[in-house]
Amino acid sequence: MSRKFHVYGNWKLHNNAAASRALAQAVVEATSAFRDAVVTGMAPVFLSLAAVREAVPAHPHLKVVAQNGYPAPKGAFTGEVSFALLKDAGCDAVLIGHSERRQIFGETDAFLAEKVPAALAAGLEVVFCVGETLDEREAGRTWEVVGRQIDAVLPKVDAASRARLIVAYEPVWAIGTGRTATPAQAQEVHRLIRDRVAQLWDAAGAAELIIQYGGSVKAENAAELFACPDIDGGLVGGAALDAAGFAKIVAAAAAIRR
Ligand code: PEP
Repeated sequence: MSRKFHVYGNWKLHNNAAASRALAQAVVEATSAFRDAVVTGMAPVFLSLAAVREAVPAHPHLKVVAQNGYPAPKGAFTGEVSFALLKDAGCDAVLIGHSERRQIFGETDAFLAEKVPAALAAGLEVVFCVGETLDEREAGRTWEVVGRQIDAVLPKVDAASRARLIVAYEPVWAIGTGRTATPAQAQEVHRLIRDRVAQLWDAAGAAELIIQYGGSVKAENAAELFACPDIDGGLVGGAALDAAGFAKIVAAAAAIRR
């Protein structure tokens, strides 16, 4: 199995350009020992992307990541930023379908099924986020929801772009709450996602797909999550705002031998 660990930080609506640059520099420095082993990403706000791009050396294992983008290349879409412009600004990747986009901004499966192929067509790597709410989990509907989110988007990804798609399983009840899925809970859903992708794509595509876990990942729980066979790293929110703590999460991934 050739899947590398991918650990990306989602900085959400934090940090101005100067603070983002400083954090990016600190992350690059603190994670340099793990650069061969772990693909590391940083997702600042749009306005800090240029500063972070300047602070992050060009390297296949260092990714500058946008938190969102718009599928149309141009036009009357006030306030939006196209994927082509993100690519032009030096972005390597973009988050799509984060639960905050789905819940606060009303992004639907149908809209995300437009966004993901558009971002891939613009040459970006995509981190496509899926996950169930607490009510859905407690009602025993986790796979119904996550399976529906996967089915809406993965068939729209053409074979040539598959290697640039990452799926992030992020149970909504674990995001920013301090509550983490147990390794067994996370592994169960990751396995279901991989099995489903084998049906939608093929066995080789599913075996190569990077599936990150997100939801209160921190230095204290990263190692046990990353030890699961279908967890290929993390999408980290709060704990990514501190370079030393984030580097410990990257180190936990680097320490695992598959
Ligand atoms: C996230 O925003 O994707 C996330 C997982 O946040 P946190 O790590 O803070 O739960």
